[in-house]
Amino acid sequence: MSKNQLINETHNPQLTSWVDSANLSGCDFPIQNLPFAVFTKIGSDEAFRGGVAIGDQILDLAAAKDSGEFTGLALKALEACSESELNTFMAMGKEAWSALRTALSNALVTGSSSQNILANCLVSQADAEYALPCNIGDYTDFYTSIHHATSVGKKFRPDNPLLPNYKWVPIGYHGRSSSIEISGSDFKRPKGQTKAPTATEPSFGPCKRLDYELEIGIFIGNGNALGEPVSIENAEDHVFGICIFNDWSARDIQGWEYQPLGPFLSKSFASTISPWIVTTEALAPYKTQWTRDESDPQPMPYLESSQNRTSGSFDINLQVLLETETMRNAEHAPTALAQSNFKDSYWTVAQMVAHHTVNGCNLRAGDMFGSGTQSGPKPEEAGSMLELSNAGSEPISLPNGESRTFLEDGDNVIMTGWCEKEGASRIGFGLVEAKILPAD
Ligand code: CA
Repeated sequence: MSKNQLINETHNPQLTSWVDSANLSGCDFPIQNLPFAVFTKIGSDEAFRGGVAIGDQILDLAAAKDSGEFTGLALKALEACSESELNTFMAMGKEAWSALRTALSNALVTGSSSQNILANCLVSQADAEYALPCNIGDYTDFYTSIHHATSVGKKFRPDNPLLPNYKWVPIGYHGRSSSIEISGSDFKRPKGQTKAPTATEPSFGPCKRLDYELEIGIFIGNGNALGEPVSIENAEDHVFGICIFNDWSARDIQGWEYQPLGPFLSKSFASTISPWIVTTEALAPYKTQWTRDESDPQPMPYLESSQNRTSGSFDINLQVLLETETMRNAEHAPTALAQSNFKDSYWTVAQMVAHHTVNGCNLRAGDMFGSGTQSGPKPEEAGSMLELSNAGSEPISLPNGESRTFLEDGDNVIMTGWCEKEGASRIGFGLVEAKILPAD
């Protein structure tokens, strides 16, 4: 473990909280997690402010700031977390993030002298609504799963699935941040130009091949000055945390528009994130080794470090579930479509940061990266319907007798993520969901 990924007392799996629900087995938000969101009480006119999840509760960070229980750098961090966007806190850097995490852990642990006062600073998650956790200035979408890139490449270019740059360059494009919304933001099926392979001319209308993409969102904390690349050794110091991310895609629009400059309107109509950002520090126990097949090109020096080799990957389980309108009306539980793991990614978070800035490009607090669809090596680990239905040619059978090739109106797509292993506390990301509404 390097200096960047130290496991400390906040990760101790023996810790319990005086918030009883945090101690339940399988809880996403035990005291070892402490993820950040921006929330307010449903139906209130209170301002949105920062909160930290603990069990089924939220510690209101604006109320915690005024509680008198915090001092020093942790108090300064709480002042920043009282704003309606977390950018100021994210820009403070890892010393401040860590100071607040330690102080919150000490305050929420069983036996803490802060219990009586902080018990008044809790809001039930059942009573909360969320906003985007920060102002996302720029959004960059990467393409880090070689399994996804290969199987999608086969559908668009059967004779040439993986382009020659893939094993050298962490491929990405500049996405659209204005259409990123928080979980629960339903959206209308997009319209656009499409052209069937057999048609002589394109046509216009509602998307017929609407898909999800199972991704993680990576939030930049403190940025870098224009012209000053971030080295791979320092890259993770700039990463505040991770959320679950559904990067909806219109495959028929994409197929017609994507050459020569890449995706445009097929991606910019909606993207949805989970409310909670799990910090890089909380994920420290789930850092794992990263390897590159000996038969593949090895990374160029600016994408290579011993730290990246020993602990550059994140072991995060990802799952996508579907709830159709018929299931919802019948009160059937959503059905799982696929599960994958971010550790199977061809490129790491540190490599994404180092590559993004190597030309001098500046990242700013609150910028977000999409990891790209995370598909694993097995067919059932596919992170999109494009892959699961073999580009629409093999319908996916659902347990209630329905089937899907792509998403239909009324479909609610749910994604979750969690980390678990022997010797560490299980932590979760909560969920991201949104429903497809009919086109106008
Ligand atoms: Ca994407």
